[in-house]
Amino acid sequence: MTSRALQRLWEWSCHAPGALPLEQRRSYEVVAQTFVLASLGHLLFACVLIGLQIPLLIVLNLACVATNTAALMFHRRLQLNRAMSVKLTATLLLITLSVWLIGPDAGFEYYFFLLLCEMLISDMTARYKIATSAVIGSVALATLLMAPDFTPWMLEAEAFREDIRLTNLVMVFLILGGILWRLHAITERCEHRFRRDATYDDLTKLLNRRAIFHEAEMLWQQGREFTLLLLDADHFKQVNDTHGHTAGDDVLRHLAYIVRGALREDDRLGRVGGEEFLIVFPDSSRDEVLAVASRIRRCLAEQPCQLEALTLPVTFSMGMAAAKEVTSMQALIDMADRRLYRAKSAGRDQLVMSDLEFIGPAAVL
Ligand code: GH3
Ligand code: MG
Ligand code: MG
Repeated sequence: MTSRALQRLWEWSCHAPGALPLEQRRSYEVVAQTFVLASLGHLLFACVLIGLQIPLLIVLNLACVATNTAALMFHRRLQLNRAMSVKLTATLLLITLSVWLIGPDAGFEYYFFLLLCEMLISDMTARYKIATSAVIGSVALATLLMAPDFTPWMLEAEAFREDIRLTNLVMVFLILGGILWRLHAITERCEHRFRRDATYDDLTKLLNRRAIFHEAEMLWQQGREFTLLLLDADHFKQVNDTHGHTAGDDVLRHLAYIVRGALREDDRLGRVGGEEFLIVFPDSSRDEVLAVASRIRRCLAEQPCQLEALTLPVTFSMGMAAAKEVTSMQALIDMADRRLYRAKSAGRDQLVMSDLEFIGPAAVL
C-alpha cells in the first residue's frame, strides 16, 4: 500500500504532462526527478545533521526541501525557467552559507559542481545556461575567496569536520549517480519511442515506407535473391467517399491484418502509401510468392472487412518483381510498380508476375 502510494507520488511528480511534445519530455522528466532527488538528499542530510547537532544547517536544508517543492510545482505548470531559478537561488544560498559557517574545507563546495550539472542537463536555452553557469562560477569563486577565517560554527563543527566532508562527498556521489542513471534510463525510453515512431506506420502498425524499402535495400546489398510484391487496394477512394474516412481507416487496418496473417515468418510487410503495401520475400521461389499472394486473396474473400452491419469487400491489384530480373534496386521497384499499373489496366484484382503472366482471381482461389 505504502509502496504504491510512493509510486503514485513519484509518477505524479515526475511524469511529463501528456500534451508535452516527446522531444521535451526527456528533459522535463529528468529535471523533475532532480528536484525530487535533491529534496530527498536535503532531508537525508538534515537527518545526518540532527546527529551532528548543527541546527542552523538542519533548518537551511529543510528550507531547501521547501524551495525544491516550490520549484517542482512551477515545473509542473511548465514554468521551467522560474522553477530552475528558484532551485538555483535557494541552493546557492545554502551552499554559500554552509561554506561560510562551517568552513571551506567541509566539502560543501562540491555542490557547486552538482548544481552546474543539474542546470546543464536541463532543457534551458543556451543563453540561460551560459548566464547561469557564469553566476554559479562567480558565486563559487566569491564564496571560497570571501569565506571568513573563523565563525562560532566552525569551532562547534570542528570535531565533525571530517564526517561532514565525507557525508557531502557521498551525497554528491549519490545524487550525481542518481541523476545520470535516470538521464540514461529516460533517454533510452525516449529513443525507443523515437525509433518505433520512425519505423512503424501509426495506422496499421506495419513497417513504414522508409523501413520496408530499407529491408529490401539491405537484401540487395547482400546480393541475396528476393522478390517484391506491390499491392494496391482497388477503388479504395470509393470506400472513403461512400462510408467516410474513419471507415476507410478501419478497412486499411483490416487489410494490413489479413496480409500480415497470410505471410510466412521471414516475409516482411510495409505500408508504402495510402492504400499501397509492399511485401519483401527473401530467398523465395516464384511459386512460393504465388502461394502467398493466393492466400492473401483467399483470406480477403473469406474475411471481408466488417463494420457493424456493413460488409466492405476489397480486392488487391498486385505487381511482382524478382531481384534477379534487374540490375539495380530502383529498377526493381520500378518493375513492380509497372506491373501493378498493368494489373490495374487489366481490370484490377489481378496479379502480374511478369510482363506476360496475368493471374486473375479465379485462377488462384
Ligand atoms: P485504384 O483502384 O486505381 O487504386 O483506385 P483507388 O481509389 O484505390 O486509388 P486512388 O489513388 O484514386 O485513391 C486512393 C485513396 O486512398 C485516396 C485517399 O483518400 C485514400 N487514402 C490514402 N491514405 C489514406 C488513409 O490513411 N486513410 C484513409 N481512410 N484513406 C486514405
Ligand atoms: Mg488503390
Ligand atoms: Mg494507390
